[in-house]
Amino acid sequence: MIVGVHPIAGFDKLLHYKVPALLQHAVALGSLVRIQVGRRFSLGIVGAIGAPSDFPVDRLKNLTEAVYDFPALPADLLALAKWMAVYYAAPLDGIIETMLPGAVRRATALKQEKLLSMGEKLSALELTALERRAPQQAKLYTFMVQQFRPVAKALVLKRLGVEAASAAPLVKRGAIKEESQRVNRVAYDDDFASGELVAAMPHLLNTEQQAAFDALKVEIDKQEFGVTLLHGVTGSGKTEVYLRSIHEALADGGGVVFLVPEVALTPQTVARVRSRLEAIAPGHACVVWHSHLSEGERVDGWHELATGRARIVVGARSAIFAPVQNLRLIVVDEEHEPAYKQDETPRYHGRDVAVMRAKLNGAHCILGSATPSLETYANAKAGRYGHLRMTQRIDDRQLPFIDVVDMRVEIMRSRGMTTLSQKLVHAMQDRFEKREQTILFLNRRGYSSSMLCRGCGHVEECPHCSISMTYHRTDELLRCHMCGHERGAPARCPSCGSPEIRWRGTGTQRVEEAVQRVLPRARIERMDADTMSKKNRFRQVLAEFRAGKIDVLVGTQMIGKGLDIPNVTLVGMVDADISMHMPDFRATERTFQLLVQVAGRAGRGDRAGVVIVQSFTPQADAIQFSRHADFEGFAEGELQLRKDFRYPPYRHLIHHSFRGPNPEKLVFFAEQWARKVEAELGERLEVRGPSPSPIEKVKDHYRFQVWYFTNGVSRVIRDLNTLRRGFAWPDDVLQVLDVDPVSLG
Ligand code: ADP
Ligand code: ZN
Ligand code: ZN
Repeated sequence: MIVGVHPIAGFDKLLHYKVPALLQHAVALGSLVRIQVGRRFSLGIVGAIGAPSDFPVDRLKNLTEAVYDFPALPADLLALAKWMAVYYAAPLDGIIETMLPGAVRRATALKQEKLLSMGEKLSALELTALERRAPQQAKLYTFMVQQFRPVAKALVLKRLGVEAASAAPLVKRGAIKEESQRVNRVAYDDDFASGELVAAMPHLLNTEQQAAFDALKVEIDKQEFGVTLLHGVTGSGKTEVYLRSIHEALADGGGVVFLVPEVALTPQTVARVRSRLEAIAPGHACVVWHSHLSEGERVDGWHELATGRARIVVGARSAIFAPVQNLRLIVVDEEHEPAYKQDETPRYHGRDVAVMRAKLNGAHCILGSATPSLETYANAKAGRYGHLRMTQRIDDRQLPFIDVVDMRVEIMRSRGMTTLSQKLVHAMQDRFEKREQTILFLNRRGYSSSMLCRGCGHVEECPHCSISMTYHRTDELLRCHMCGHERGAPARCPSCGSPEIRWRGTGTQRVEEAVQRVLPRARIERMDADTMSKKNRFRQVLAEFRAGKIDVLVGTQMIGKGLDIPNVTLVGMVDADISMHMPDFRATERTFQLLVQVAGRAGRGDRAGVVIVQSFTPQADAIQFSRHADFEGFAEGELQLRKDFRYPPYRHLIHHSFRGPNPEKLVFFAEQWARKVEAELGERLEVRGPSPSPIEKVKDHYRFQVWYFTNGVSRVIRDLNTLRRGFAWPDDVLQVLDVDPVSLG
């Protein structure tokens, strides 16, 4: 038997090996094997059985070892890896590494436990002799005679105070039997999720939920590939619909992948999924997949799935690669979340990979969101995906009222910079007196280099690309970092003449101080990437907030997702503008999503919620449509704009970045390259750039970028990548391709 192996060794090549007779039962497509490459040993995945007919078989080496006796990469994952290698222009071995957790590749031992049980009885005479000759052995034997079932060896020895060496002679003469058993460290009872258990009783579905589930049931039962967008407003009860669908797939013998965006907030979802599944489908172990697992837990969880003992995995992005057998359903919750995109090689998008994996398995994929990405929405509108709507909140709770404060007026009134508007301050004071809670959101740190007029809200945009221009201090220029268009930076606002045209972002700390000043007796807590680097701190603050021990929670949007706290009746959005004026054609979409999601955090209990949004551009579409959570209205205008500028979803976008210590050299090669691409592939793609990246220099490395727009993405990527491999790049010019980037930073 000959096999082709993809080594995990830093190069892409199929190498051939002979399989020794001893290993043949354990080797199949997708097996993880150890091989000799040159003088080194390396791991690899069996990617082909057999060899070309004229192959010089005699000189082949033998495989060294099969790490597991079942395929570590089942057929669907192997096919998925190959697809990703082409689509994301990424090396196959890096993708295989991403798919197989390190602990699995290292074959971190599955934990074994030794058990002792009774063997053949000794005669009274033999026992007396033993008591005299080896009292410890006798003690162990006498104890074992009284046992009816196997007992853990370590425990027995410890309890009896007997040395380990005493067991061996007894085992040897057959008086005691010893066997090994696997112990499971799989995170079934994950302490990560404890303390957040929600009632397990299934809800009676309301009419909209029932209609959605009925439609999904039909799709799941078809057992063929399909995608459905489950488009339901915040609080419409999507999770309940996912759970029923999951149960449907499980009941039918299928496997399920359930993806959630943010690792930090999976405990809530995980606890809910687990307790609900245990109630409706007892015995279905649900494997949890997140970055805080220990090596042992990860290997065991992986092993449970790979061997089909567990059939459902819940986790963040990388859980899409869990070796779930007989995959029948994939659920992607909050499918619009940029967190699904991995920002290092392989730069894959978890949602898009989910759709592809469903396709390879003839499975159904549910994409759920209150604010679908325009890519997904366009697919649904074009009929490529099913489209289910849920328009009402559970129990007909009101969507919160969104009140927009015009910060231009606020600044005139306070005669200078102000962080919190009067309206927001009064509302917070009111909640504090009523013992209700407030959340204040800030945008993630924006570019201090985008320009926004604080007199009139004007933002300078590129006429060709419709994105904000970026201010470059060094040469006093405004530059479009997509097409390179530039103009002198104005000293005064071109629209109203105000000199106040520099944007400064506000940090969480400044906001915290401002709140402290107006609410001196309130308990305030801050949650951002800096203060929350420890996982326990994050849980602790959430638990305290839930328990009502914190009055005002200040944080970046990381605290927004999935928070479901009934006593929160006020949500403030401190600086809606920053995300809106990021130099990114998705800036409007992001802001709309952010506002709707954030607003969804208010009024989850019996009392209606109020949301106050502060902005210098209150008339902007993203803000106006979010006031009534009017997704269709928003999408219509935004899709038209995307169409006019031929942005995604109307074309695919590929980002190519160049980095190096020498800016002249970078520009030279980037330009040479861009010209070559234009000459060779110009008919099938549009090239924009090269232009400096918005952050031009990082750790003494300069950065430039080129953008490609295309319709025929798969074939173009293949050709682009081939061209790139053949181009003579100097050693000090690093370049990275990113297909379907989600952020233009
Ligand atoms: P979404 O994910 O759509 O924002 P959730 O799934 O979080 O909404 O549901 C919102 C709340 O409504 C949750 O507390 C959930 O337990 C509750 N819920 C969901 N379905 C029902 C139902 N049919 N009856 C009563 N409560 C429900
Ligand atoms: Zn102005
Ligand atoms: Zn431009």
